[in-house]
Amino acid sequence: MIEFCGVSKTYAGTHTPAVEEFSYTVEEGSTTVFVGPSGCGKTTLLRMVNRMVTPTSGQVRVRGNDVADEDPVELRRSIGYVMQHSGLMPHRTAVDNVADIARLAGAGKRQARQRAMEMLELVNLDPALAGRYPGELSGGQAQRVGVARGLVNRPDIIMMDEPFAAVDPVVRRKLQNEILAIRDRLSTTVLMVTHDIDEAFKMGDQVLVLGEHAAIEQAGSPEDIMAHPANARVRDFVGLDGRTLTVVDRDGSRVLVDASGTVKGMLS
Ligand code: ADP
Ligand code: MG
Repeated sequence: MIEFCGVSKTYAGTHTPAVEEFSYTVEEGSTTVFVGPSGCGKTTLLRMVNRMVTPTSGQVRVRGNDVADEDPVELRRSIGYVMQHSGLMPHRTAVDNVADIARLAGAGKRQARQRAMEMLELVNLDPALAGRYPGELSGGQAQRVGVARGLVNRPDIIMMDEPFAAVDPVVRRKLQNEILAIRDRLSTTVLMVTHDIDEAFKMGDQVLVLGEHAAIEQAGSPEDIMAHPANARVRDFVGLDGRTLTVVDRDGSRVLVDASGTVKGMLS
């Protein structure tokens, strides 16, 4: 569905590559999470998919086509993109921020507004807030509008760049659960990046742990990575530091237990 084929990116005026020889295939229908420290190249990888960044070398293929051959505007319309900082237009109301994206895809004015209101409902934004400007919304509310923008054209692919970074832990958990529920309802392929390993394990059915220049330290299911971290850096990043944790099923939830059987965390 999304194939990264040996892509590298060195930004003009810099000497070290942001991304070096990255290859990976995001499977259709999966929720794939790239996780790694700040500056490791996560945003650069996402932006190479919708041509906001042009690779220095290598190729990205979406739905079987090299994105370099696609019209950038069409391509961006076909992929939902929730930006790292909500990316809302400050002088447009919440509903207009969403409706504008529908308009770009060809919807008429009334239809765009109606779809925007439906999307705001889908992400559980109080309809009373639809007329507010982004500056009058909390971080969590603005992020809901950002997600509604990403979904309004019902793309088969949605990319999310640290979508919950600016919200408090309680709201974050709620938004995470809502995204998972929406994903299940719309059967969308989700590619998400985060620096938060717990978020990666909760959201992803496939997780890539990235190191410097987006080097893949390990790729696999959360269970695989926790049970068999590939190296000391992954072990350190995952926070296992020598402890042996295993994943077990408890009452339909996947939980992590330590050697003594004590529950250490929950996966979903
Ligand atoms: P992440 O999203 O993982 O924090 P980024 O992809 O934003 O990482 O950045 C990767 C590296 O590329 C960083 O060293 C960053 O400083 C650099 N970088 C990102 N965007 C630009 C740019 N427009 N110009 C120059 N360097 C950039
Ligand atoms: Mg980033």
